[in-house]
Formats: sequence, structure tokens, C-alpha cells
Amino acid sequence: MPPELEQLLVLQDKDQHIRKLKLDLRRMPADKERALNKLAGETEAVRAAKEAVQLNEVAMKNLELQIKTRQDTITKLKVQQYETRKNEEFKALGHETERYGKEVTKLEDDELVLMEKAELLKAEHAAKGRTLAATQAVVDEELALIASRQTHVMAQLAEFEGIRAGLAGKVDEDLLATYDRIFQNRGDSAVAELNGQVCRGCNMKVTPATVQAAKVDKTLVSCPNCGRFVYYAELP
Ligand SMILES: [Zn+2]
Repeated sequence: MPPELEQLLVLQDKDQHIRKLKLDLRRMPADKERALNKLAGETEAVRAAKEAVQLNEVAMKNLELQIKTRQDTITKLKVQQYETRKNEEFKALGHETERYGKEVTKLEDDELVLMEKAELLKAEHAAKGRTLAATQAVVDEELALIASRQTHVMAQLAEFEGIRAGLAGKVDEDLLATYDRIFQNRGDSAVAELNGQVCRGCNMKVTPATVQAAKVDKTLVSCPNCGRFVYYAELP
């Protein structure tokens, strides 16, 4: 194997690691997003449950107000009834008091229903809150893991890029430019092993002349299909 190809193989090994680390880093925001999305539905459920409790409280207050208004009216009617001297008016006021009294009873029944409902709604709100807290704990753990993975990957990346720069400095400038171009174009490699007559970079059969050249030549040989430098793994 030509010595410059050996250099490129070492360089490629680092580049492939760097590529994997970069892909991993690029995936992390989506991982974070996915973890946070788990909270969205449950946060909304807690908010809706709280709103239901509040609406019920408003409805109860409203009923209390209606009861109070009627009770005040009843008190006034009773005073009027006590003060009147007309029999007809006395009777009419008595009927009205009775009518308001019935309304109060009906409103108090309604209030009782809402009070029972309030207990259920509060319990539901508390249960939803506990579910959210449990999910929050899981998500916090996931986020912490992602953050520590990110720190680790970034440190590794910096280290590999340092090593890569050192290796690249030893490669002929033009050859390095060609290598970089092929690696960029192909995405994953610029140097590929030949497996029989097949290039492992593109999995296509190469010409017998290419096979022959890769076996004996001391110069660099390229795959006619994908352009990657090809070589035969030397037997130990
Ligand atoms: Zn190829």
C-alpha cells in the first residue's frame, strides 16, 4: 500500500469518528424537544383541571349571591308584612315571601350539587398534578442525560479535531484537498477497500485493470464508479 494511502486511512478513521460525533450533536435538540413534548399534554391537563375547579367556584359564588339577594328580599317583605294593616296586602306579601323561600331552597340544592362537584374536581386536579410531577422527574432526568452527553461529545469532538489537524498537516496539500472533496461528496468515506472485484465504498464491480493496479501499483488507484481511492487489504 502506498504510504500516502496509509496516511489517508488513519485520517479517514478520525474523520468518520468526527462525522458520527457531529451527527450525534445534531440529533440532540430533537431529543430534547421529544422529552419536553411529553410534558406539554400533561401540563395542559393540569391547567384545564385547575380551570374547571375555578369555574365551579365562580358558579358557587354566583349561587350564593342569588341566595343572599333573595334572603334580603324576604327580610324586607317580612318587615312590610308586619307593618301593613291591609289584609289583602298582608296575604300578597306572604305569598311572595313563600315564593322567594322556595327559590332559596332550590338554589341551596343547586349549591350542594356544586359543592360535591368541587370535591371531585379538586381531587382530579391533584391527581393530574401528581402525574405531571412524576413525568417532570423523568423528563428532568432525560434532559440531564442529554446535557451530559452533549458535554462529553463536544469534548471528544474537540479532541478528535485536534488529532485530525495534526494528521492532516502531514498529508500532501493537493492530495488532502482531493481526499476532502471525495469525503464531502460521498459523506462517509474517501478511501475504500476492494472486496474481490467489488469496491466496498459503492458496492459496484470495478474493472480488472483497476483490480490489477490496486494489487501491484505503488501509486493511488481510484474506483471508476465512485471516485474513492481503493486498496487491497494486505495479508498479515
Ligand atoms: Zn466505488
